[in-house]
Amino acid sequence: MARRRGRELVGRVITAFLVTVSLSVVCVGEGARRPACASARGELTVADLPAGSSVLDCLAVGRVVTHAGAGVAVPEPGTTVSVDALTADGSAHGFTLKVAADGTVSYAFEADDTDHTDRADHAGGTHPADRAEAAARARADAPAPCADGAYSTAGRKVYGTYKWFIGDDPLPGHLSREEARRAFEDAIATITTSRNDCGYDDTVRAKARYLSTTGNEAGIDQEARCTHRDGLSVWDAGDIGSEVVATTCSWSRPMRGHPEQLLEADVRFNTQDFPFTNRPSGGCTHAYDIRSVATHEAGHVFGLGHSGAGHENLTMYANSFACSTDARTLGKGDVLGLRSLY
Ligand SMILES: [Zn+2]
Repeated sequence: MARRRGRELVGRVITAFLVTVSLSVVCVGEGARRPACASARGELTVADLPAGSSVLDCLAVGRVVTHAGAGVAVPEPGTTVSVDALTADGSAHGFTLKVAADGTVSYAFEADDTDHTDRADHAGGTHPADRAEAAARARADAPAPCADGAYSTAGRKVYGTYKWFIGDDPLPGHLSREEARRAFEDAIATITTSRNDCGYDDTVRAKARYLSTTGNEAGIDQEARCTHRDGLSVWDAGDIGSEVVATTCSWSRPMRGHPEQLLEADVRFNTQDFPFTNRPSGGCTHAYDIRSVATHEAGHVFGLGHSGAGHENLTMYANSFACSTDARTLGKGDVLGLRSLY
């Protein structure tokens, strides 16, 4: 049940990124062939719906499962759902819940392996601003983007063309629909053409196409939890919790012997708690660059995971740095990750 795809191609061992929880079927006494699950109504924790339990036995489909501040609604059997949050301080909030065709549950958790907490403690506090400052220092110590080959993949990819919509909600940076379309298209194209300043040719064969605006919304709630799959991949904006700058929710299905097939990926920007801009200037103090954030989220859409602590200068690092446009182009690891999938 390996869900681990982390790899490091520059000769250094990357910190374990996805902690795979192995599926263990516990036999305790006669008849008890699966781990017990909570049958009460309402939200579940991972402990309530442990790996190896059945969403059918537990009547869990549609109920939210939470872990370490992240959450997903349990999908139908034969479906996998992943939540990836981009935070203000680089702390990782993400996990994957896979429901096998027979209803059996398994998880892959993103380890929060950043050391921002220690650094923030040394800096005298754990206030978000202190943590952001600590993350910026870590970034200064990290390898340059073209010298850092670290990447991870999420075990899924886009087969064919990623067809996406823009929602009706207010858009980041008060952009018009047309401006947002251009910004998002540009960001998605950076992923599909592996655009970089490192001199790497584009060998990535990935495709995307914008379809239209829609009254549908991204299936992401006010706590950045993946709620429902409606069949449309929607990019929009809203309130997704105070520490999350943007979130991608991806649903996929298994492909025997290959990465899972993306079914839908929704992206939401947190315009409730963070300012965004399409043109960071010298006067920028704390707004997030829309194209940088969108490029990172598009990386998730196309199957990239986070690069992990020590790799702060890659687009797929879990923090988008305010006022920075660096993530608009890819680093070495981002390109290598895409090449591994496409
Ligand atoms: Zn992310």
